Amino acid sequence: MLLRARIVYPVTAPPVEDGAVLVSQGCIAAVGRWCDLRREASGQVTDLGDAVLLPGLVNAHCHLDYTHLAGRLRPPRSFPDWIKSILAAKGEWTFSDFATSWLAGAAQLLAGGVTTVANIESVPELLADCRSATPLRVHSFLEMTGVRSGRNPAGILHDARRAIAGLDAGPGGFGLSPHAPYSTTPVLLRLTAEAAAAEGWRTTTHVAESEAEFEMFMYRRGAMYDWLEPQRPMDDCGLGSPVQHLERCGLLGPRHLAVHVNYLWHGDAARLARAGAHVVHCPKSHSYFGHRRFPRCELEEAGVTVCVGTDSLASTLPHRGALPQLSLLAELREMMALDATLDAATALKYATVHGARALGLEGQIGTVSEGAAADLIAIPFRGAPGEAAQAVVAHEGPVSAMILNGDVLRLPRGADAERAP
Ligand SMILES: [Zn+2]
Repeated sequence: MLLRARIVYPVTAPPVEDGAVLVSQGCIAAVGRWCDLRREASGQVTDLGDAVLLPGLVNAHCHLDYTHLAGRLRPPRSFPDWIKSILAAKGEWTFSDFATSWLAGAAQLLAGGVTTVANIESVPELLADCRSATPLRVHSFLEMTGVRSGRNPAGILHDARRAIAGLDAGPGGFGLSPHAPYSTTPVLLRLTAEAAAAEGWRTTTHVAESEAEFEMFMYRRGAMYDWLEPQRPMDDCGLGSPVQHLERCGLLGPRHLAVHVNYLWHGDAARLARAGAHVVHCPKSHSYFGHRRFPRCELEEAGVTVCVGTDSLASTLPHRGALPQLSLLAELREMMALDATLDAATALKYATVHGARALGLEGQIGTVSEGAAADLIAIPFRGAPGEAAQAVVAHEGPVSAMILNGDVLRLPRGADAERAP
């Protein structure tokens, strides 16, 4: 299949005007100008017309199973209050509620141009059925907590491993997600790090998300400390920052996705960079909680790869009076609205090549380049090449075309599909 578009925007290279992408056996076989590639077309030619064709987006942090909690939880007075309300809301749900919510989230991500997601799975019973019901590349990270249940960490880890044993990875993969430093024990973090290293899995943790978490670990005080003190041993507090805590437990490393990272102590950015850990920023969730400014520049200057995620709709404000939808482009708009120094081309890298790098898939997804998977999206566009990134980030609603793993999932009405002469 040869795709033609007004602009092909690989993100990892400058836009190509009147560009073309040759797709063969699920992969990108060539990228270039239409006039150079048209001769190589031996199968179907699809002309997307006035469009920019770019890599499918990579959402580096999501909770698909909370999608139907959209609009249910108001921004809380304190972060622990929000955790209490989501636990109460989840407690009312059946497996079937979680499953329909998960699938609705997957459909929203696909409509908005996401082809790969790093998803936190809090209901492992859904995994087999839900993952096989979507073409989305889902990297499922099994969530583990254990503080409230008081369960043995080895047993928690054993259950997470058993939940994915024998499951088909499909187009995605699996990993482990100790929920957060405050909701886990140091022993669970250490065991997770050892298991993930042995299996070559990636890990992800919410860390340094709130001021309450930062105060709990740094100073043994605050709303989270007071809430959790009757529920867990607090001897891991007062020893340093949440990021230092993860490092001490052996979890920071090149296969780790540290989510949020809003509250840094001196040296934390360098600590993350030294470890090769990746940071996932979730702009709308960040705004919902009113956290202090995300330290993007500090992290990048230290050498950390920053990527973006949607987090869940349980921590996303309504949009223009309507229930919010999962949209990675809306996350980029939010990020740019709060950071005047961030340009659209850089923001798009966060949502493509950086997310791919965090998942260990750089060169395979998040780029339009030879040898990468044919995960491609398009949006309508009539402008000049230099305006393409801005137009993509500004795009609202469904993308006009999506090819995932070489399969055409959506084409714009009127796209010329014809046999090559
Ligand atoms: Zn999250």
